[in-house]
Amino acid sequence: MEQTMPRDYYEVLGVPRNASQDEIKRAFRRLARQYHPDVSTEKDAEERFKEINEAYRVLSDNEKRAAYDRFGHAGVSGGMGGFGGFGATGFPGFDEIFEEFFGGFGASARRRQRSGPVQGRDLRYDLTIDFNQAVFGAEVDIEVTRRDTCPDCRGTGAAPGTQPRRCPDCHGTGQLRQVRQTFLGSMVNIVDCGRCSGTGEVIDTPCRECGGSGVVQRARKLTVTIPPGVDDGTQIRLAGEGEPGLRGGPPGDLYVVLRVKPHEFFKRRNSDIVLEVSINVAQAALGDTIRVPTVDGEEEVQVPAGTQSGKIIRMRGKGVPKLRRDGTTSGRGDQLLILTVETPTKLTKEQRELFEKLAKTLGNEVVPQKSGRGFMDRVADFFAGN
Ligand SMILES: [Zn+2]
Ligand SMILES: [Zn+2]
Repeated sequence: MEQTMPRDYYEVLGVPRNASQDEIKRAFRRLARQYHPDVSTEKDAEERFKEINEAYRVLSDNEKRAAYDRFGHAGVSGGMGGFGGFGATGFPGFDEIFEEFFGGFGASARRRQRSGPVQGRDLRYDLTIDFNQAVFGAEVDIEVTRRDTCPDCRGTGAAPGTQPRRCPDCHGTGQLRQVRQTFLGSMVNIVDCGRCSGTGEVIDTPCRECGGSGVVQRARKLTVTIPPGVDDGTQIRLAGEGEPGLRGGPPGDLYVVLRVKPHEFFKRRNSDIVLEVSINVAQAALGDTIRVPTVDGEEEVQVPAGTQSGKIIRMRGKGVPKLRRDGTTSGRGDQLLILTVETPTKLTKEQRELFEKLAKTLGNEVVPQKSGRGFMDRVADFFAGN
């Protein structure tokens, strides 16, 4: 795949970096009108329009814009956990953009009926799970309300025992042609037939169960099997559990989007689990055996003598199962134990005396640390994978 450096979004829209949302919208409108592939005569209209559209998508969203301002294109390209929104691929139709701005222009054309079978829409369900369920997997029952084919009329919308008939106005096509004058000149508009609302059929006696729509809202109970090793933002696809198709089309899919509740102690870093614990100065200086929590229960860990604050101990295989694309797992990540040496703030009389004795033997010389990468930098490096 060809990869070129995308142009700066502000440059694409021709607005300053501090442009207001109004200015951004105006610039987009002007450029969209110029480059929309449906109307433009420019050679590279489609490419330009994609670019304009992408720039607008980011800059018109305050959160995305802030990310872009800080991190550039890397801040807004959809990564893991980013839920792009299915059906949002490609770019919106000309009508859709102008409908958004001018309220309703061309709206009916968008609902235009296609005559073949149409796959049902995909549905999304956000499911919040516990940290441990994400680590070890779980089976969770959910209830999804979705549009379903009306059982009484089997989706025709006509009362049982009757049939819909061909619309006499549009002769079953569902569409009427209209020539209209717009600010872009004369345009032929295909609009939905008003009589049949674009379906091509009229119903004389509507089904009572669904009011003639052919669909009813139904709650369905489903069991979601969550594999071990999922993370916040992981999607589980339940094929065929979306909305029913139209005119014999297949149903859509249900996407369960997982949200993992934060744990009191553990933090996730891909398949590793990070845990910070405090040790006291004596444990740091002399070494000790400590007990720390893991997702498998408490474990003993050796703290070596002379441990510095910020030391990271890797507990192999105590992390999260590594989830593969096919839903199986291979091995587990590690638990990374970060040790912080706690300086005591309240001393008993005896402890104070001991520290004073210790202080005399240690002296009061200050040793400047060599410039360069300090302890906090090393911790940051560790987590950046260096
Ligand atoms: Zn019905
Ligand atoms: Zn009609």
